Amino acid sequence: MNNKPDINLSNIRESGPQPMLSKILVSACLMGKPVRYDECYASKGAEKLHHLQGQGRIVLLCPEIAGGLPTPRAPAERVSDQIKSQTGENFTNAFIHGAEQALTLCLNHNIKIAILKENSPSCGSDFIYDGSFTGTKIRGSGIVTDLLRANGISVFSEHNIDHAIDLANQ
Ligand code: SF4
Repeated sequence: MNNKPDINLSNIRESGPQPMLSKILVSACLMGKPVRYDECYASKGAEKLHHLQGQGRIVLLCPEIAGGLPTPRAPAERVSDQIKSQTGENFTNAFIHGAEQALTLCLNHNIKIAILKENSPSCGSDFIYDGSFTGTKIRGSGIVTDLLRANGISVFSEHNIDHAIDLANQ
């Protein structure tokens, strides 16, 4: 008599643990948080990001707030490695501190992809303002983006959300 239990291996494989989908760091102002210098948000965020947020895969951060700056605050722009406000204050240390907080979050959550707000002296990935406070954009990136990229994290703007999500889902 054969007393071996009838084990169906294919069922076990199908019901086994699912691979964990990776998280994405996102600028808080892109998801409706009123954290900008003017106490506004940049966007309420794409539907796709809200869907990922429902899955617990979105980590929100405003690096400037994390770095200790208040809201509202004077607008600031990047010139070389310095961040100057329109009212003449030097915000560089706060911006660097915020960038370090962003990197720490990424390391803690094993994040390899970030979607950050374009044109910001912290979060910009392809363009920033030129430091003249005249609304002139130049090719460049923000302090946070530079630090994340230097540590192997891919940074995209709100204009490349689909591509960023595709990479995060791989
Ligand atoms: S620092 Fe980044 S998240 Fe914060 S308001 Fe500026 S662009 Fe948005």
